Amino acid sequence: MSSVQDQIQSCVDRLFDAEVQFLTKLVQFRSLRNEEAEAQDFIQSELARRGFEVSRFRTDASRIGRHPAFSPATVDYDTSWNIVGHRKGQGSGGRSLAFNSHVDVVPAGSPDRWSRPPFQPFRDGEWLYGRGAGDMKAGLVASIFAMDAITQAGLSLRGDVQIQSVVEEEITGNGAATAFVLGHTADAVVSPEPTGEQLVRANSGVLKFRLATRGRPAHPMEPAAGQSAIDLMMRLITHLRTLERRWIADGQRQPRFKDIENPVSLTIGTITGGDWIASIPSDCVAEGRIGFYPGESPGDRAREFEAFVERIQDEDPAFAGGGLVTLSWVGVMHAGYELAEGTAAEACLHAAHARVHDGSSLPSFVMPCYLDAAIFSVHGKIPSLVYGPVAENIHGIDERVSLPSLRRVTKALALFAAEWCGIEGSR
Ligand SMILES: [Zn+2]
Repeated sequence: MSSVQDQIQSCVDRLFDAEVQFLTKLVQFRSLRNEEAEAQDFIQSELARRGFEVSRFRTDASRIGRHPAFSPATVDYDTSWNIVGHRKGQGSGGRSLAFNSHVDVVPAGSPDRWSRPPFQPFRDGEWLYGRGAGDMKAGLVASIFAMDAITQAGLSLRGDVQIQSVVEEEITGNGAATAFVLGHTADAVVSPEPTGEQLVRANSGVLKFRLATRGRPAHPMEPAAGQSAIDLMMRLITHLRTLERRWIADGQRQPRFKDIENPVSLTIGTITGGDWIASIPSDCVAEGRIGFYPGESPGDRAREFEAFVERIQDEDPAFAGGGLVTLSWVGVMHAGYELAEGTAAEACLHAAHARVHDGSSLPSFVMPCYLDAAIFSVHGKIPSLVYGPVAENIHGIDERVSLPSLRRVTKALALFAAEWCGIEGSR
């Protein structure tokens, strides 16, 4: 007679074609920021169809500045919907579990540089291509099908389970923050981000900023009469590289980060400036992000960044006169976390991973970026395990997720849930 674990794994296998179809459908939704509603409608109906009790709630802008889980935002949240499916545990004594995933995706870059259109997913051998396929629609789908496999095996979980599909992860984290403050928490959180089947041991805190420079527009025949906002911005960015180097050096005191070449990654993600090819430009705006270390306060790092930008304006004569730079905070402003070793939740994931990987142990690594798991870890002190499939080119061209990896992760998530929440046979 096969073990319960084997039965669960065969059910994942049996449902896997349907899982890939589900993922393909989900990747077709162009769930860019504030355009996630249709994808969320789909998730809501799929969860309801499976008997989950579904909560649908808007990202809550009224909490920004009032609860530390929230970060500044520059959009309104009228169409910013989050979905949580709840399934009550059967029997008693089970631990509760929340699978947390984000359904928002980043823009595709230049769609014409993709081999196929980014929102028309296509399968090539063992890979499924499409924007968001890896980051992180595959993980969301894995959590849903992990639960389907348990049901299909004729089992139910003793602990309560949630499937969370939130928005805003790629910019503010305010979707997960809203879920958190509304009480959608559990004894453990699992977030199947594309981690290459490894566990995230630590991640970084992140600040997202906007810098605007004010030039003096003029005709190019008299360049001395003007001052280029674009040149000012380039200069400012060069100065910021000094701050970046200093923050990288701070990482030498962080055992988990000291071997990462650039754990803070000052990234200028957007830049716009000027309005005429032959005018000295009056304005330039650049947006970016910078990371810092777990345990550090985002407020302190933000003040340090602000003071640095102030000092540049005082010290660099190019900025003489003052008032040429405006700094604002326009996205995530949140601490990182370090996953404590030796939790029961981690032990459970180790066991599930080993079972799917012929006994191999679960590797862990540091992911130097923001993760929604930080909300639950930092503000709820909940063991938050980030573990998901192999994906390539996330945020890049021809993003793709490995389907054999998705299958293994779905199995590991199902086995984890069975062990963590406990199972009741209903056959
Ligand atoms: Zn992600």
